[in-house]
Amino acid sequence: MKNPVELMNPEVVAIKQQEIFKFNALAKANSGVVNMTVGEPNFPTPDHIKLAAIRAIMNDDTKYTVPEGDHDLLRAASNYLHEKYGLNYDPESEMITTLGVTEGVFSTLNALLDEGDEVLIPAPCYTIYGPDTNFDHSKPVYLDTSKTEFKVMPEQLDELLSTHPRIKVFLFNYPNNPTGVTYNKQELENLAAVLSKYDVFVISDEIYSELTYNSKHYSFAKILPKQTILLNGVSKSHAMTGWRIGIACAPKEIISQINKIHELATTAVSTISQAAATEAYTNGFDDPMKMRDEYKQRRDVLLSGLEKLDFYCPIPDGAFYLFAKIPEGLNQDDVTFAKDLLKKEGLAILPGSFFGEGGSGHLRLSYAASMESIQNALVKLRDYVTNYASS
Ligand code: PLP
Repeated sequence: MKNPVELMNPEVVAIKQQEIFKFNALAKANSGVVNMTVGEPNFPTPDHIKLAAIRAIMNDDTKYTVPEGDHDLLRAASNYLHEKYGLNYDPESEMITTLGVTEGVFSTLNALLDEGDEVLIPAPCYTIYGPDTNFDHSKPVYLDTSKTEFKVMPEQLDELLSTHPRIKVFLFNYPNNPTGVTYNKQELENLAAVLSKYDVFVISDEIYSELTYNSKHYSFAKILPKQTILLNGVSKSHAMTGWRIGIACAPKEIISQINKIHELATTAVSTISQAAATEAYTNGFDDPMKMRDEYKQRRDVLLSGLEKLDFYCPIPDGAFYLFAKIPEGLNQDDVTFAKDLLKKEGLAILPGSFFGEGGSGHLRLSYAASMESIQNALVKLRDYVTNYASS
């Protein structure tokens, strides 16, 4: 039987999902702990969306449905992606609904890869990417972004693609978890110019596309539509993590392959969640903005507090994470730092090395937390640095 932990590449053993759960569990178990580990909005799902789900239940919209997802939902999502990002996907043949982006990544990798193929992953990265790749008997190749402000540089990309002929997929995520870094149109075009020279697909995980603070999100699918599988969803934009809705978009032949794996794995996604997501995509255009304004204020407070304590963060223009470098002169081991901080001060944040290559010496702080928690966190961090962290 496949053991998901053994399947992790040795290079990513540091990324231990269980360790993250432990941090979360400890934080939750102790009411005095300030928890800044969480990767989900701390807002409720908007009422109009909840009401749509209630209506679906009362209308007995509770039977099996087609694997690709309800076509009303796909049409609404297509229109949303068009209005927001200028994308043109045919809801009848180029889109499916998945069980969150999580299943979208899994099914897409399974559809595209053969045993022994390689997946190029900029790191640090979202923790499921490495294990997902190994599960498929393909192999992750990590591109360490830590020397370039956590951005992928075209030259690096070119070098790795030219020396690894088995790379079939570039697994890209922006706005990025864990760094909060995002890309502008020119930067994306520079990467696309390299990728277009190779026979590779791009899985573009744009789950945080609605959470950008200084500039509007630009979709990779707009630049390289034929090679790109776009993954998006409502988890972060509409505070709907528990509803498990993602949308995968790609040229027809690719999406039909992904749909086959998706059908085997899930049959289809919950009809009730699909009704809720249809409402989100139809009448929830402005929902993300209210949350975004609030996140921006929290980000600014956290960022300036961290800077005062000499924790440097790369430009965090998206998602709801800051990836702070532990200042010189303090204990540089991020795992010990985070564990000790939790024990001594009751502040839970995640060690950067949990997110793979390039993450060590950093800490990930999520500002999907109340302003009060953020203020408390800064006091706790200051006290810890003053009292304990000097090496
Ligand atoms: N992709 C990234 C980069 C994430 O950070 C997360 C959740 O934290 C997901 C995907 C999960 O998305 P979903 O809830 O749609 O499965």
